Amino acid sequence: MKLITLGTGTVALVGERVCAGHYVEAGAVRLLIDCGSGVTHRLAELGLPWREITHVAFTHFHLDHVSDFATLVFAWKYGDLPGRSAPLTLIGPSGTAALVGRIADAFGEWLRAPGFPINIVEIEPGSRIELGDGASIAATKVPHTEESVAYSIERGGRRVVYTGDTGYDPMFAEWARGADVLLCECSLPTEMAIPSHLTPEQCGALAAAALPKHFVLTHFYPPVERVDIRAIVGAHYAGPVTLAGDGFTFEIEED
Ligand SMILES: [Zn+2]
Ligand SMILES: [Zn+2]
Repeated sequence: MKLITLGTGTVALVGERVCAGHYVEAGAVRLLIDCGSGVTHRLAELGLPWREITHVAFTHFHLDHVSDFATLVFAWKYGDLPGRSAPLTLIGPSGTAALVGRIADAFGEWLRAPGFPINIVEIEPGSRIELGDGASIAATKVPHTEESVAYSIERGGRRVVYTGDTGYDPMFAEWARGADVLLCECSLPTEMAIPSHLTPEQCGALAAAALPKHFVLTHFYPPVERVDIRAIVGAHYAGPVTLAGDGFTFEIEED
């Protein structure tokens, strides 16, 4: 498997980090998890096969995680002629179909029927969906918004887990235990802590409980970058830590 962090920022706009979005290759599966503003252009900038994406998955419905989805569908329809014909599977928590319906109400019918089928699959927390070619995705609930989920993508005995946006939850650490890569949000420094996001201390505690083989941090608001994230996390967890940037690639060798 391969993970590429496309968007490691938030809606606190900075030039070098676009909003949330990550690309996972698992065999023939080309999965985009979250699709915030700027992610579509990062796909092109990095030379990734954006036309061949097979699946999109939303962790939750905050704008910084979904707003480029309409752009991506528009690109598949008009960005390259002839337009896409291959079906797309859109995975998301309960409410995903209604969200797409509301976006289509605003922008037009083309979003529901862009010339290729969009199969919307609302994933139940605790369940797993086969993606094809031996890859699967599982979801679990996380404390952020009512619908928020985290994902685990698995293939060939390897596992990439992405928190999406989340507050601290020891149950999640248990679920994520032993992931090959744990891609974890790291939003705010301790003095700005809120229950729906993680601080570097909480990220460290999460890594100490989940013991991933590689702990990768993302979703940085600018104030958190003014503290020594690496040192704070390192005080809890001795394994490899990467502070991701847009376009970082993580290769996960399969069995
Ligand atoms: Zn959010
Ligand atoms: Zn976010």
